[in-house]
Amino acid sequence: MSLPEGPLVLADPALAIDPDEVLRFQGYKRGRDVPGPDVRALFETALAEGRRLMRPRALVRWARVTRVAADALEVEGESLAIPRIGALWGEVEHAAVALCTIGEALEQRVAELWEARELPLASMLDSVGSGAVESLAEYVNDVLCQQGLPSLKVTNRISPGYADWDVAEQRRLFRLCPGDAVGVVLNEACVMTPGKSISLLAGAGRAARVDHYFSQCARCWMRDCAYRRVPARATVHR
Ligand code: SF4
Repeated sequence: MSLPEGPLVLADPALAIDPDEVLRFQGYKRGRDVPGPDVRALFETALAEGRRLMRPRALVRWARVTRVAADALEVEGESLAIPRIGALWGEVEHAAVALCTIGEALEQRVAELWEARELPLASMLDSVGSGAVESLAEYVNDVLCQQGLPSLKVTNRISPGYADWDVAEQRRLFRLCPGDAVGVVLNEACVMTPGKSISLLAGAGRAARVDHYFSQCARCWMRDCAYRRVPARATVHR
């Protein structure tokens, strides 16, 4: 096993965008709310426009983990205060920082549509963008898992601002992995531009804990992976 050294750009993966995920951003509950034909048609229009506008890309950088504690992880001298990380991930020796984005064009088009009072399409296109960047983050998590195989287990991703991890820690992630190569910048309030961007961290180790709340394999697109732990239900790759 050898993890890639230095920053790596993943450009233009053939992303699959889950309609249910997009509709979830519209307030639909999976398995309970059934969208009508008008909503389906609006989704197809927004998806076609979104595909034309988005430019998915991600920057990945592996780094050495120098200390694991109950609520902290030290990565190349950056001390990340992540609640319960020791129990969640177990022993990890490496961590990958990734910045995922679909670019600015889609959100600029959403702003134009709001201006023109085309509100349903503006809202659906915005949700398509949110669904796309989520798919991209899943895609990257799958790539990280493949990079760790066969000897390292790779955890599910976590992000600052979610599950009690302070959003201010975005600054530490950006110090480990500056976003210039994919055009992602962080402002004083720790908000990323373009807005449809996700920063994430995943751990890797021979004894890392994986699959205790969700199996990454269930959404992984690597159909012929010899190390698959559960069958794929859906994928984020066309
Ligand atoms: S199928 Fe599972 S083990 Fe194989 S690369 Fe995907 S997530 Fe990793």
